[in-house]
Amino acid sequence: MKVLIADDDQISRMITKAAVEQSGHECLVAVDGDQAWELFKLHRPEAVVTDLMMPGLNGLDLCRSIRGAEDDSYTYVILVTSHGSRDDVLAGMEAGADDYVTKPLDPFNLRIRLLAAQRITSLHADLARYRSALSEQARRDPLTKLHNRLKLTEDLGELHSRGYLGNYCLAMVDVDNFKSYNDLYGHQAGDSALVSIAATLAGEVRESDGVYRFGGEEFLLVLRGQTPEGAGVVMERVRSAVHSLQIEHSGDPDGVLTISAGLAAYTDEHRAGIEELLKEADLALYAAKASGRNRVRVASSLTTE
Ligand code: GH3
Ligand code: MG
Ligand code: MG
Repeated sequence: MKVLIADDDQISRMITKAAVEQSGHECLVAVDGDQAWELFKLHRPEAVVTDLMMPGLNGLDLCRSIRGAEDDSYTYVILVTSHGSRDDVLAGMEAGADDYVTKPLDPFNLRIRLLAAQRITSLHADLARYRSALSEQARRDPLTKLHNRLKLTEDLGELHSRGYLGNYCLAMVDVDNFKSYNDLYGHQAGDSALVSIAATLAGEVRESDGVYRFGGEEFLLVLRGQTPEGAGVVMERVRSAVHSLQIEHSGDPDGVLTISAGLAAYTDEHRAGIEELLKEADLALYAAKASGRNRVRVASSLTTE
């Protein structure tokens, strides 16, 4: 562990440091509360052993500041109090300390507390890892490995909550005649076709663009910094790349699996909300389907007709 020691008394500091180092931990040392807080922010130690009475931030302030600054990590705080001061101990624990030792410091007492600190901080680190893995899992589609609709909602929300929003386009993509593909070739073949198409979509756009599985055989692309014209070129390339996969589909007029896409754009002239843009992209997709499939259509809000 990385252990931060805060104490304004030099002798105390030396005893504490020796005990911490004997336990095999890395040591950071601060001579007052303010320096401790700076070192804490810089190094994010797993444990802090702090004196109660210090110039600048005292031990209680330091405890509170640490608790207030925690994100996904946990810091185990051990308070060093003067012997017999129950009120100090109570105030310290209320301020967020996990445990306490009394002065004059018995190195053995500190060493056994550091064992508990190690166990607790390692448990918290495990929890943080699980939380982050679960959060990632909840935002991915297990079949195609693309981000899912939950992530799309979050990403679009974030995009729109920023002050300035540059041009961007949404493309709603749907696989053509996919029901009959499943009927003809089986659900498993359908699944692997979706995986290939998803990988093709992701491969044809920029790293900064977003490709999401919207649901079933529908995908949504977020093309950042694109004018409708630019996005039209991108989507035509995407459509052609899927056609080039040459996934045989005897039930489709083209003889292979194809996609249709509907484009909507957020521009200075058209500052539409998320729902509105999705609806426009969906209507444009419907128009692409109605006019024969395997094609890209832009939302009517972007055309002069
Ligand atoms: P259109 O060209 O109008 O889009 O026709 P379609 O047949 O593609 O449209 P429809 O909505 O009737 O059918 C979609 C099909 O997609 C039905 C459903 O079984 C299939 N599908 C959706 N999700 C999956 C999936 O995860 N795996 C497989 N294999 N099929 C899926
Ligand atoms: Mg379809
Ligand atoms: Mg569909």
